[in-house]
Amino acid sequence: MTETDPCKREREEMVEFQVRARGVGDRRVLAAMRKIPRHFFVPKGYERAAYEDRPLPIGEGQTISQPYIVAVMTEQLEIKPQDRVLEIGTGSGYQAALLAELAATVISVERLADLADRARKNLARAGVTGVKVVVGDGTEGYPPEAPYDAIIVTAAPPDIPGPLIDQLAEGGRLIAPVGPRDCQDLVKLVKREGRVEKIPLGGVCFVPLIGQFGWRGEGFL
Ligand code: SAM
Repeated sequence: MTETDPCKREREEMVEFQVRARGVGDRRVLAAMRKIPRHFFVPKGYERAAYEDRPLPIGEGQTISQPYIVAVMTEQLEIKPQDRVLEIGTGSGYQAALLAELAATVISVERLADLADRARKNLARAGVTGVKVVVGDGTEGYPPEAPYDAIIVTAAPPDIPGPLIDQLAEGGRLIAPVGPRDCQDLVKLVKREGRVEKIPLGGVCFVPLIGQFGWRGEGFL
């Protein structure tokens, strides 16, 4: 990062008090969160709020998720340096930037082209080069680069889309908020010998995942 960093202290406090103190201990995840300038991923005027313990609006009715939830989901993905990772729901690009610190390959799919454009700009400004942002319906996954060692879904479907389970590699982990439109259960799937084990991780509230294998929204009525 070449720009001066007026938010370094806020970022360190965010990691210490919102993330590490609440039990997220993965050192690579904590280091990534200390490094990535979250204030580059929020709209103008929200830079200081970027380090507060809450989600923020990013336009188009969408949000950048609360730092603690981002940390929990990222830790639970158990990413290794050689991994291929798929994110569904690029939003601001912040989660994708963290994934790029941890994995070899990151593909991130966003349904809304304007948000995808902004995310690409945010990532470039933060100096993050290892993310391919694709515009499309992420409920279908991204077959050209499958299978994936880890898949993170950052909007909530009523059920986990079948194509995502199909595109998970043997030994792969998938994290998604699953359930009703307002609040959901965070679940982790692990694929072992072709079978999927499901682990509940607690309650969360995410915006809906809209698409062919998600909720029906505009263009899907
Ligand atoms: N991970 C993001 C970040 O770091 O800023 C936050 C994601 S935001 C909570 C959810 C995103 O999922 C929104 O940008 C929304 O447009 C996107 N989304 C909803 N349905 C989608 C779909 N079927 N495919 C891809 N993206 C989708």
